[in-house]
Amino acid sequence: MRAIQIDATGGPDVLKLVEVPAPEPKPGQILIRNQAIGLNFIDTYHRSGLYPLKLPSGLGMEGAGVVEAVGEGVTRFSVGDLAAYASGPIGAYAELHAVNAERAVKPPAGIDAQVAAGALLKGMTAEFLLRRCYAVKAGDHILVHAAAGGVGSILVQWGKALGAVVIATAGSQDKAERARSLGADHVILYRDADVAAEVRRITNGAGVPVAYDSVGAATFEGTLASLAKRGLFVSFGNASGPPPAIAPARLMQAGSVFLTRPTMGDYLLTTAELDASAAALFEVIKSGKVKIDIGQTFPLAEARKAHEAMEGRDTVGASLLIP
Ligand code: NDP
Repeated sequence: MRAIQIDATGGPDVLKLVEVPAPEPKPGQILIRNQAIGLNFIDTYHRSGLYPLKLPSGLGMEGAGVVEAVGEGVTRFSVGDLAAYASGPIGAYAELHAVNAERAVKPPAGIDAQVAAGALLKGMTAEFLLRRCYAVKAGDHILVHAAAGGVGSILVQWGKALGAVVIATAGSQDKAERARSLGADHVILYRDADVAAEVRRITNGAGVPVAYDSVGAATFEGTLASLAKRGLFVSFGNASGPPPAIAPARLMQAGSVFLTRPTMGDYLLTTAELDASAAALFEVIKSGKVKIDIGQTFPLAEARKAHEAMEGRDTVGASLLIP
């Protein structure tokens, strides 16, 4: 089968298309013939070495397709089912991928492989961020950075569905328009503006009770200064580089605020948590409250181009690789 591999960490040029033997499902695993592979910014951290992998390695966490074989002991899936997965093992950039049946889900009727692969990782992230990391209430002002991106697009729409007033940020006029069309109430062009000053203006000085920051280094100080007293800073990504280390006293000076740095896996500890998160996501998609905005697709062989686009801030919504 064809797959993307890396032998060394580095820029997008380390992504190589290779022919490798098709994997066999181990006990408890299912073998999925990917119809769509979800691209995620985390894939660039794995490729660059920011999040270290044992090399050589495949790449990619997310995909959806038809179950081609089931390993010993699997009862959750049968051959022919549509299955989607978002939590590894790493190696989704391939025609076939073997994953643990307990970590895969069955998309309901009406959700195809492309929507599932564009939605699952980003959407379950939005689910735990909006409902469990902090429980967004109607009327809350929430700050969402990179709002035209994959996770950002879902946070905006789902935040609106929960009744929040969404203050979004975006890196260009086009992306700002996109965030507005998804329902954002206010959009800040954060490459030029003083984000905290804008947030204070919009909230009549109060600041936001929760801020979702996946941009990291470039936005850290502005996010901290945007929080309401006792607000929650959710730092969940490093698109511009890792945020700085900070002394606890800074949290007091910022208004007795809280800082958390969550990762999806810790909110999907059990199969029951995975199923509940995926079910909530599929429900908001089926209700029409959240549309999965597939901004661009790339053939599997063009993974390098896809990474260049992601890191070049040239993507909007979700991105897929098609095997
Ligand atoms: P996105 O589609 O959101 O792409 C990243 C976006 O970040 C870009 O489009 C860009 O938007 C913005 N950005 C700001 N500064 C930079 C920069 N210097 N270089 C590149 N991009 C920049 O990606 P995803 O939806 O896949 O992921 C969004 C974020 O969420 C990532 O940081 C990811 O790591 C994180 N994440 C964390 C999870 C967790 O469990 N903690 C799970 C899933 C995702 P713009 O041009 O508008 O600035």
